[in-house]
Amino acid sequence: MKLFEHEAKDIFRAFGMPTPPGGVARTPEEAKKQAAEVGKPVVVKAQVLAGKRGKVGGVKFADTPEEAARHAEEILKMKINDLPVEAVLIEEKLDIQQEIYAGITVDRNERKYVVIGSGAGGMSIEELAEESPEKIIKHHIDPDFGLQPFEARDMAIAMGFSGKSINKLAGFFLKLWQIVKARDVELTEINPLILTKDGRFLAADARLNIDDNALYRHKKLIESLKREPMELNERERAATQEGMAYVELDGNIACICNGAGLTMATLDAVSLYGGKASTFLDLGGGANAERVEKGIEIAMKYDKVKAILVNIMGGITRCDEVANGILAAKKDGDIRAPLVIRMVGTNEEEGQEILAKAGIPFLKTMEEAAQKVVNLVKEGA
Ligand code: GDP
Ligand code: MN
Repeated sequence: MKLFEHEAKDIFRAFGMPTPPGGVARTPEEAKKQAAEVGKPVVVKAQVLAGKRGKVGGVKFADTPEEAARHAEEILKMKINDLPVEAVLIEEKLDIQQEIYAGITVDRNERKYVVIGSGAGGMSIEELAEESPEKIIKHHIDPDFGLQPFEARDMAIAMGFSGKSINKLAGFFLKLWQIVKARDVELTEINPLILTKDGRFLAADARLNIDDNALYRHKKLIESLKREPMELNERERAATQEGMAYVELDGNIACICNGAGLTMATLDAVSLYGGKASTFLDLGGGANAERVEKGIEIAMKYDKVKAILVNIMGGITRCDEVANGILAAKKDGDIRAPLVIRMVGTNEEEGQEILAKAGIPFLKTMEEAAQKVVNLVKEGA
């Protein structure tokens, strides 16, 4: 679950981390009030679950409360990454001496948390990693001992800080680590952590993702947010309601399969033959005709989809059921893109017979099916 910047900052503050003074506004009037309370020039920031707001006009500066209200009005009309902006954060505008990056995330390969820091914050860490990887400092946290104060200080020194700044910056890393442990955080990031001209360190931005599998341990926190845990689009919501695992990607081939492993393998096969998947859709175990039909219907609603690959391994799932589901989807007019089917296993022959009778072609192997669907998309393009 991703938190909004202002929600993440509430947590930061609760753990004693300094953030710029300010508050949330949902209307221009509220923005004016918040800015007046700050009593100094402010920054008006779109609250959406997307990064790089600065680049698309979602972060603006105002010298007066009236100007803050005007910016808020404009930003509240925006959509960033397709997400409507429902609130802005009004905060004191800081005089920047230096923009710093500080974060903690999971390094799956090392099976450890990793602390990441850089004296060259501001831009995204991915861009920084491309441009000047030598400016990124990393330290893996020993799970038995946790992040130690001396390690946090070493990070600050490696990032180029000296004197009193070392302990101040180390404090941010140690607090991030406390928050990670206490809130089951997968990723947290302060970018930028701003060092002001008058020597203050403040978390000017905040990102915090909580492990979805641990949400049950944070009921109080979720209640206090007064909103649904996840921002889902209509297709994600429908799939979640059906108990299907659904992930949207940038390509144009929807892969509808049963079992996460088979779905991953199917995505790999598509990619091997030069295609790009638009959709990972795992129907789950024991998919019946209705479920297959529903899955196809959901996948088709994503406008990037140019072809569908249904790849089913019959076990508890029966191929005749799958075939009937495909027929039903076809009958309902849900299928607006070419369909490639491969299914093997339980009642394979019955299923193939149903498809053959309806004039729907199918293939025997995943490789053939993946190649076929990739070719169909290429021909269509
Ligand atoms: P993001 O683009 O979505 O990551 O939004 P950020 O909160 O990181 O803001 C983008 C950029 O705006 C930062 O990198 C800063 O350069 C600038 N910015 C944000 N807050 C302040 C502030 O309080 N004072 C000043 N001067 N610049 C700020
Ligand atoms: Mn940022």
